[in-house]
Amino acid sequence: MSQYWTDLVHRLDPYVPGEQPQDQQYIKLNTNESPYPPSPNVSEVLRAYSIEDLRLYPDPESVVLRKTLAQHHGLVASQVFVGNGSDEVLAHGFMAFFKRQKPLLYPDISYSFYPVYCQLYDIEFEKIPLDDNFQINCADYNRTNGGIILPNPNAPTGIALPLNAIRSLLEQSDSVVIIDEAYVDFGAESADSLIDEYDNLLVTRTFSKSRSLAGLRLGYALGHADLIEALNRVKNSFNSYPIDRLASAAAVASVKDEDYFQQCNEKIIASRTTLSQSLAALNFRVYPSSSNFVFAEHATKPAVEIYEALKQAGILVRYFKSARIDNCLRITVGSTEECQQLVEQLKRILG
Ligand code: PMP
Repeated sequence: MSQYWTDLVHRLDPYVPGEQPQDQQYIKLNTNESPYPPSPNVSEVLRAYSIEDLRLYPDPESVVLRKTLAQHHGLVASQVFVGNGSDEVLAHGFMAFFKRQKPLLYPDISYSFYPVYCQLYDIEFEKIPLDDNFQINCADYNRTNGGIILPNPNAPTGIALPLNAIRSLLEQSDSVVIIDEAYVDFGAESADSLIDEYDNLLVTRTFSKSRSLAGLRLGYALGHADLIEALNRVKNSFNSYPIDRLASAAAVASVKDEDYFQQCNEKIIASRTTLSQSLAALNFRVYPSSSNFVFAEHATKPAVEIYEALKQAGILVRYFKSARIDNCLRITVGSTEECQQLVEQLKRILG
């Protein structure tokens, strides 16, 4: 059928998400999902939901959800955009801000969806190398650009940048800077506090990790009202109703349960410390993580062999066959029991 494809479709090299096996029960430490269920408020709201209302379209502007998020971040609703997962929000951001005469800049080791959006929208880009310790050096971004995007903490390294570094990026650039805060709740500083100060800052967030709602598909962006309007123009040229009624109600319920949110994140941060120590004791170099995963490289055994052996043992972790990181594993911080099982299997595999 490929004779019917456009040239663009022939050229596409789509993003490949982490495995979501349907055949067997694995311990899933490969896609940075939360080991904990969503807030009990979410189940309550969904259980009480009036199914009859599903015959009606949802609010195309998601006003209640945007107001709830605005309040949570000390902003107003016109500074909030919501989408079907932060991937969709990012896609709209690439289209709205990054197709320029000048290249988009992002780290050479980063979220592997960024080059895919560049290809889809024909955006010129330059990858800026991380240093030998996988750190971002902000001065390297002080060059002609049509935009900057980076995850903070970075993925898949887990390493965070402090707020003053983000500030320097914003001051250097006269283009839009997107800070992808998918993992920020696990110990990094959010740039949401800079939004009123910098009209070129867009912060993206997700409910998939720290809110245990990857299955809901909810992401959002925070920024100056003019940037949000640009995202709305793209969204309204694409899909008027990306947020369904159930997702919206569940997301509001989640945001309102701050205590539960904090408790889960604290548990994950504590497990991350224990897991990092156990991995170091097994001769892994573990990069300092501020996220719900650790990035680690074994001193002698190749990462691909460890990945395969863990899979055989029913444990999935993420292995990227990419330059500079093809001897590293990205391991999601699971529950205490899951982390213990992982460490036991690693002891066996590493002899
Ligand atoms: N940004 C980063 C850095 C990620 O790792 C992910 C998860 N794959 C996302 C954004 C997208 O998350 P979601 O679409 O589930 O909100």
